Formats: sequence, structure tokens, C-alpha cells
Amino acid sequence: MVFNMKIKPKNIYLKLKEIIIKKKLVDLEKSQYWTINELKNFQNERLKKIINYAYKNIKGYRDKFNQVKIKPNDINSSNDLYKIPILTREEIQENPAFINPKLIHTTLYTGGSTGKSLIYYDDQQAGIMRWNCHYRGWKYQGYNVSKKLAVISAAKKISINHKILTLNGQLEDKYLRQNIEAIVKFRPEFLRGYVGSIYILGKYILEKNIKIDFIKAIDPVSENLYEYQKKIMQKAFNAPVFEEYCCNDGGACAWECEKHQGLHWAMERAIIEEKNGEMITTDLWNKAMPFIRYKNGDKVKFLKNKCCCGRTLPLIKVKGRDNDIIIAPKGPIGATFLMYHGIGYGDKNSFRTGIRIVQYVQEKNYQLNVNIVKSANCTQKQIDGFKKAVKTTCHQMKIKFNFIKDIKGTKIGKRQFIINNDHKLLEKWK
Ligand SMILES: [Zn+2]
Repeated sequence: MVFNMKIKPKNIYLKLKEIIIKKKLVDLEKSQYWTINELKNFQNERLKKIINYAYKNIKGYRDKFNQVKIKPNDINSSNDLYKIPILTREEIQENPAFINPKLIHTTLYTGGSTGKSLIYYDDQQAGIMRWNCHYRGWKYQGYNVSKKLAVISAAKKISINHKILTLNGQLEDKYLRQNIEAIVKFRPEFLRGYVGSIYILGKYILEKNIKIDFIKAIDPVSENLYEYQKKIMQKAFNAPVFEEYCCNDGGACAWECEKHQGLHWAMERAIIEEKNGEMITTDLWNKAMPFIRYKNGDKVKFLKNKCCCGRTLPLIKVKGRDNDIIIAPKGPIGATFLMYHGIGYGDKNSFRTGIRIVQYVQEKNYQLNVNIVKSANCTQKQIDGFKKAVKTTCHQMKIKFNFIKDIKGTKIGKRQFIINNDHKLLEKWK
């Protein structure tokens, strides 16, 4: 998955309450039962609008259309999409030609599973669709805002806000213990958070033989979920895992329903195409930064079976970029953490803006080499902030920071964000 970070986690849920249901662009509860033709017609109508808009208002797209000599009239349905050249992340990275600054409502970041984050923007409508799709997906798990939820992401302390328990995202034993105590006391019915974090929490629960019997659904997000992780989570929390896929840059998103037969693709938000196994996505709403035929780096497979839950939204299977994992003495560290832990979201002074590319390379004996390419205006303060965050996340490892000019891609052209050269250790955990 392209590791998406939205806004500060603790604000997500307040925001959710504010937006959800009040503002609807489509009745998503109904549209998930439309016929496939109705869904496709809906997509095509939206597609024409966004194509017209992009051609008229976004120079980057106008240039792309002109390059292959097509006009908006040439695109009347998703069947015509192939005529438009594919959009890459590199093209839109820090490229104002793809943005309409007047419509920016929210600034978002990808976690950069390639080691490089993309800053992108939502307009208001795209934001409403994003939240409403999430909310519908979470409802598949039985969740609604009146239910108690525990969240584990990048927060640095435990807090309770209405029905939401935010756990401490630092994963040293003492914090794990505090998190579990808080969970037992709060008794949430739902658990959501980074794959790596829930997994480590689950392992701790099993190790210490703690009984948790009140969770109804586990929703691991933002990282590839492996079968071994899922097993541990389900055993530790005595609850089923519901998979979720969300790539907000491009609007592709899908949720597993109570029948667990695949992930229902939210067709109302984006068109997903599959090309040689790669996902190509077109956001049907975002005008602040349109994503038209965007290759997001994830892999998708359309499943042939229909879900027995009755929802017509097609089933897909998604896999994010294959990353190795970094393994500390206490266990694997979530990829999302390596990119984000401790970052001040959106703050110009945060080290997010100071570090251009980062790469983690693990060697034997828990040696971790962190290769860093600084951005042009990087300050010492940002460097210090970054180092501190890495040391906190990987606190039992021997860390060495290397500042270099560039990080080359691998043979297949992709820059690997995490490389683990301790194959023996990797075997033990994968
Ligand atoms: Zn279903």
C-alpha cells in the first residue's frame, strides 16, 4: 500500500464526527447495492466531468492530452481511459502544473513506501468522499461513531477523547504494558491502527497470557498485512481481522465486509484499472489535484466471485509494494513507523520537509544503517529531530546515519525503502 497519512491521528475522529453523514454527495449506503451498470454509469458521468475540468484548469493534464492529441470529448467512459497516458508519482511530485491552489482544502502526505513522501491535496468534495467511504467501510465491521474504538498509530501518549482511546505508538515494553492496561480498562469493541503496531501489541498479549475478549473487529491499516500477522492478531484479540485498503492519492479504496471474501472496491470514489497486475487509479472527485490514470505502485487483482453479502461493489485483492522489514530485538518495526514516527504533520519546521529520501538497511547483529538525502533547505534542527525519532522507534538497535547525495534504484528501477540483509533473522520473522 502506499502508506497514507492523513491528518494528525487524534484529529481524525473528531473530524469524522463533524463530516460524516451530514454532508453526502452520494448515498453510499444505497449505491453499494446498485447494479454494476448503474455503478458504471455513475462513474462515467463523474469521469467526464473531471476530465473536462482537468483539461480546462490543470496545465499538466492539458499538456498530457495535447501530447497524444486527444480532447476531453474523446473520453466518454472508462473504456476510453486507455487513450490517456499514465501518470507517475515522479511527474506530480512538487509539480505545481498538476495543482489548482484555489481549491486546496486539505494537505495530505503519502508515507512514501519508496522512501520518498508525496505531498498532495484534496478539495472539499474529495475530502467528504474520502471520509464517507471510510465510514461506510468501517460500518462493515460493525463500527459507528457511538462505539468505543482504540487506535494505535503515531501518538506519543495515551489519551481518551469521547469514544476513542488513542494508544501510545511507541512500542517499547513499558508502553506496550500501559497500552494493554488502557485497553483492558476502556474495553473498546474496535481496534484500528498500523499493521506492525497491532501485531507487536498482539504478540505481547500472547506472551504475557493476557485475556482480551471484548474486541469485535480488528482493522489493520497502512502496511502490507501478512498471514502470520493476521493469525497473531486474531488469536491475541479474539476477534476477526477486517482488511482495508486505502490510497488517498488517487482515491482507490476498498474494505472487507463481514463475509471476508475480498475487499469491496468503492466504485463511487475512483476508477481502478489493472495493467499487468499494477493498479492505475482515477479519482472521480478531486479537483484541487486531479489524479487521472495514476500509477500508485500497488498491485491489484479483480476477483471473479461475487460477495454473498449482497453488495454489488466488486471484490478486489490488493498488495502494496514489497518491502523488507526491519527487525529490532523486540520484533519487526512497522514500515509506517520508519517513515513517520514522531513527524510533526504538515509543520514546515518538521523534519519531513528537511529529509528528501530515506532508506533503512539492516545488517547482522541489529545494525541499522540509515541513508539520508537531505532537501535543499534542511536545517540542523530537522536533522536532530529525525535522528531522535529514528532512535526512539529503533531504540534497541545500533544505528548509523549516513548522509549521501542520492539513493539509487534497484535493478527493477524501484528505490527500496527498506533492505534487510540479515536473511537469517528475516527467515525467523517472515
Ligand atoms: Zn461483501
